Formats: sequence, C-alpha cells, structure tokens
Amino acid sequence: MAIDPQFTENREQVDTHKGHDVWGPVEEPEKLGIHGTHVAVDFDICLADGACLEDCPVDVFEWVETPGHPESEKKADPANETQCIDCMLCVDVCPVDAIDVDASR
Ligand code: SF4
Repeated sequence: MAIDPQFTENREQVDTHKGHDVWGPVEEPEKLGIHGTHVAVDFDICLADGACLEDCPVDVFEWVETPGHPESEKKADPANETQCIDCMLCVDVCPVDAIDVDASR
C-alpha cells in the first residue's frame, strides 16, 4: 500500500514534529501517521530502506528512532522539508512508495 496523496483531505493534522506537521491517526508505538506536508512520509509504510536519505540532493531527510513500530525501528523524517527542490528522486527510489512530494501543499 502506497502513501495516500490526498492525505490532507483524508486525515487530520494531530501534531507537529521538528517544525513539520504530523497527520494522524497516531497511536504510538505501533501507528505513527504521516510526517510532513510538502514532503510527506507515511511512517506506517516506511521500512527504513534509506535510499531517500542517500539520494536527496539537499538533505531533507533525517533518521528518527521509532522503537516498537512493526515495519522498522527508525524512519526517514522529512526534517528539512522547506529545503526541498521537488526533484522527485525520493519518490522514485522509495521501494514501498511511502513518500509523496507536492509543492502546492
Ligand atoms: S523531491 Fe528531491 S529535494 Fe525534495 S525531498 Fe525528495 S529527493 Fe529531496
């Protein structure tokens, strides 16, 4: 299952984390929602492959520890989403389609 590109309509913003929005539902540690808005990562799909961290030319992503999550114990957090240049590399390389980038959001 890929990230829902309509998440801003289908989910509610329930929190903020390091300056970006978090879209619920969130029930830690098993359910973590979507982090980011312009650059959005579905933490419940992310399996910590790391290709986005390696390939992003402007270092938007940082690892965040998520112990107890069923998919992976760390996630690619779009901590610097305001730096995104919309190259779409992260969207292309993510093996589980956990990332959606939309400059209009
Ligand atoms: S679209 Fe490009 S610049 Fe933006 S987060 Fe993804 S890899 Fe980085």
